[in-house]
Amino acid sequence: MFSLFRFGKKKRVYDARPLSLYDTLSTQKKVFAPLSQKQVTLYTCGPTVYDYATIGNFRSYVFADTLKRTLVYNDYTVNHTINLTDFGHLTSDADEGEDKMMKGLKREGRPVTLTAMRELADGYIEAFQHDMDSLNILPPTQYTRASDFVREQIALIKTLEDKGYTYETSDGVYFDVSKFPTYGKLGKINLDTLKDGARVEINPEKKHPADFALWKKGLLGWDSAWGKGFPGWHIECTAMAFASLGKQVDIHTGGIDHIATHHNGEIAQAEAATKKTYVQTWMHNAFITVEDRRIGKSEGNAIILRQLKDRGYQQSTYRYWLLTGHYRSPMNFTFEALDGAKQALFKIKRFVFEDTVSTDGHVVVPYQKRFHEAVNDDLDTPKAIAILWELLKDESLPKEDRIATLKDMDRVLGLGLNEARDTAARELGIISPEDVPEEVQKLIDEREAARVARNWEQADLLREAINLKGYTLEDTPNGPKVSKS
Ligand code: AMP
Ligand code: ZN
Repeated sequence: MFSLFRFGKKKRVYDARPLSLYDTLSTQKKVFAPLSQKQVTLYTCGPTVYDYATIGNFRSYVFADTLKRTLVYNDYTVNHTINLTDFGHLTSDADEGEDKMMKGLKREGRPVTLTAMRELADGYIEAFQHDMDSLNILPPTQYTRASDFVREQIALIKTLEDKGYTYETSDGVYFDVSKFPTYGKLGKINLDTLKDGARVEINPEKKHPADFALWKKGLLGWDSAWGKGFPGWHIECTAMAFASLGKQVDIHTGGIDHIATHHNGEIAQAEAATKKTYVQTWMHNAFITVEDRRIGKSEGNAIILRQLKDRGYQQSTYRYWLLTGHYRSPMNFTFEALDGAKQALFKIKRFVFEDTVSTDGHVVVPYQKRFHEAVNDDLDTPKAIAILWELLKDESLPKEDRIATLKDMDRVLGLGLNEARDTAARELGIISPEDVPEEVQKLIDEREAARVARNWEQADLLREAINLKGYTLEDTPNGPKVSKS
């Protein structure tokens, strides 16, 4: 599927501050200016498809999606690639540990063959894309699958070899970081410290601990000039970025754990091959912890997205919770926090969907402008959400205008406010007053009378009776509101 994201150019009646984004390389916010007027190129490091992605992983993709939506909101067209790593990513980002796909094969009792690896990946790719959809993440222009780009990876390694940046050992082909003097510039990695602090080097043939594998020789894999084997993990992203977006990319995203090794590796490979700046803006999201600990299988707290659904949370609730934090701030996940997000999002959705109000409201420009400026300030979604609430509660404005503005904001937030009303209302159990059955309405009226008369005991009993009929009541300043439980 090929789709570029474009937002039909609506003339704006104000000048928003320009979009500025924090760049990890220069450690500064920079006003964004794409290389080409025609479209922005965006590359997002995707999942290794050997298992279900955790809620932590999805922060990376919700962040990239918010970035893309913000670009589109600013009238840019975006060509977006997310890669799918279906071989070659070791459990450590450097050249150590077990291959994650092998780990997956063993876990599932599958044979160690390329076909079995492909099948293992197929299942987790499907699950991943399904989870992405459930988070309302817009599909990328292309998902690139590493095993479909082996030829391109081999060609890029060959280019680096021809240019003298590599050396061969008994187990592979390595990038020689001493030939690329600025190696480690992203995140200001000090190579001397790395050398002094390196653990006993497990591969004595490596010249420097930071040298990384471009090709790993092995019994499993593809044929190449260096023997059978498979490309290293870093070369995969560079080769696929080149193939799908070109040799120079506007924005490259990933989690902060990718800065030191993976992205410095990518810069070295790309810039050694082309002698041009590879990426204009490097953007990285901070980590999600669960109960203040790093998410991991060994920590026993690796919550996967679909477990939230099993516990009765819509995935959009998780998206809302993520957006209440800035993507560069670490966030600690708890179910209490998610409950808060659930209630908040329910209120927003009920405001938008509860009545069949007229759909010809007008966007309220002062609120739109403030919202626009918040997201243009390095995606300040916490501020944007605060503005959303201020608008929602601003009773000086007609409801249909507030709804029109919320829907406009949701082009960036992606909380599902532009869904068809019937679908949203059904999902949320929101019902219009005219859809409440007569017998339930009678109980509601009786309870309201008891409440006004301060007959709390009777009011509680009636609320119970309403619950038993499958409806939930909530008291609001405008009277009781009912939803299906
Ligand atoms: P992986 O499949 O390990 O390559 O990770 C996929 C993406 O998720 C990468 O961009 C990681 O940096 C990111 N990531 C992994 N764990 C977390 C976490 N706990 N919080 C936020 N992002 C994460
Ligand atoms: Zn990558």
